[in-house]
Amino acid sequence: MITPRDNVALMQGYHSPQIDVAVRLNTNEAPDAPPEAWTNALSSALESIDWNRYPDRAATELRTAIGSLHGVGPEQIFAANGSNEVLQTVMLAFGGSGRTAAVWEPTYALHSHISRITGTAVIEGERAEDFSTDLAEVRRVIDEARPEVSFLCSPNNPTGVVDDETTVRSVLEMVTAIDGLLVVDEAYGQFAPWSADVLIGEDVPLVVTRTFSKTWSMAASRLGYLVGPEWIVAELEKVVLPYHLDAFKQVAGTLALAHADEMNERVSRLVEERGRLVSRLGELDVDVWPSGANFVLFRPRSVDGGEVWQRLVDRSVLVRNCSSWPRLEGCLRVTIGTPGEDDLFLSALEEALQ
Ligand SMILES: *Cc1c(COP(=O)(O)O)cnc(C)c1O
Repeated sequence: MITPRDNVALMQGYHSPQIDVAVRLNTNEAPDAPPEAWTNALSSALESIDWNRYPDRAATELRTAIGSLHGVGPEQIFAANGSNEVLQTVMLAFGGSGRTAAVWEPTYALHSHISRITGTAVIEGERAEDFSTDLAEVRRVIDEARPEVSFLCSPNNPTGVVDDETTVRSVLEMVTAIDGLLVVDEAYGQFAPWSADVLIGEDVPLVVTRTFSKTWSMAASRLGYLVGPEWIVAELEKVVLPYHLDAFKQVAGTLALAHADEMNERVSRLVEERGRLVSRLGELDVDVWPSGANFVLFRPRSVDGGEVWQRLVDRSVLVRNCSSWPRLEGCLRVTIGTPGEDDLFLSALEEALQ
């Protein structure tokens, strides 16, 4: 009987349990629906879609609108069905058989998973004790494996740690010296104090990926993008499937960008709420890591993390159970929700810790 390719046969698929609970704080989505003005504009825009025609293959309007957010033209933007498809397209073009990708754990599982799916070998380095990027370790991995693609994730999922500009510049120098490509995954970039998009240039081997799933309250629409040099975008356009971005999504994304001010306000409110949640967690019997994202990693000190996760589920609160992940033994990750949801989480957690 036919079997899948070896690296697929050995693979565990992506798992994030979706359980029916009252308070869902497990996948880092925005707690609120998009602005009503957006929903209304989208409904009327639907009437002018030529449903019998293929969509604009170049998604020019959408890419122009995204580019203006970052001060670049559409030729420096590549958009796809979620930033996961952006990452996959990067690996289809720059990874593959005989090539290597580098990650520093613990980090976003999809970086190594997508690399392996595309037949790319993965070398795993380690983050420092406090989960920051350890430049000596980055140097060791890059010297040893000379990876074609290196991944940073800032703010890092699931730890929340932000790489500062000096760190990203140093990694970029090492990657440039071996003719590699640096991917900085900024799925949570808007919650952090700075963005690596300031380092982008035509002769700089750097791409920065973003998503509409978190900040833009549009996880359901599956839209993500990267900003990078024009020549890299051109390579990605060669390997992605034709017409992969449907007309509906192109309109939805373009219209969302008209609400940038409101989205920025929401980000500020979430950052403030994160501060409140972190300080409340600080009063409980848990260790908390500082976060530059819309989630917080914590570890119960006296009760097993997996047990606390189950007790929260029993109280209809769902957080991400990282307690069996390497280096995250006993850890849980909670998404910042509305103040009401966060209060329900905090009181359930207080009970669960007893
Ligand atoms: C959520 C997330 C993504 C994104 O996802 P899409 O929904 O596919 O855009 C990418 N990277 C990280 C680190 C994430 O946490």
